[in-house]
Amino acid sequence: MDFATQKDNVREIDSSVRNKWRWDWLENDLMKQYLRKTKQPGQAFCTICNKTLQYQSGGKKDLKRHMESPPHILAIKTVKTNYSLEGMLFGSPSQSSDTAPLPVRPVVLVDDRRLNAEATILGFIAKHDLPYTLAPQLVKLTQEMARDPKALTEIKLEECTASYKMIHGLS
Ligand SMILES: [Zn+2]
Repeated sequence: MDFATQKDNVREIDSSVRNKWRWDWLENDLMKQYLRKTKQPGQAFCTICNKTLQYQSGGKKDLKRHMESPPHILAIKTVKTNYSLEGMLFGSPSQSSDTAPLPVRPVVLVDDRRLNAEATILGFIAKHDLPYTLAPQLVKLTQEMARDPKALTEIKLEECTASYKMIHGLS
């Protein structure tokens, strides 16, 4: 797969495409991490799903839809679980000896929700470069907050609101 870089003339590559590629579509970390522009017109590539994506009809919306699709989200979770981040803190559930490489688990079992939750927290810690010592606190925090799911869905804390509320108090 041949990927384009910012140096390539993507307008020319996409000259036949209605919605031409824009580098500012890669606005957030998740998009930057997983999406690549290929040298084919109207085509991008998701590195975690190993899948080509078409965006000529909907542009950025097409790519966003993929980033929010269940197979993509599952792929991210699977990779996190395969790297066995949770093993670093909670001990590896693997039965293999210390020297043998961990077997790659192709899919996260649907009923394996505890591991999923742990992987989510650890993924969050890794993504934001937080200290791993924070993990037990984060677990406590999420458990505490999970008691009121309705309030959780209504929480809004953008960066500026968060600092405002820290200084001026919650209202
Ligand atoms: Zn994907």
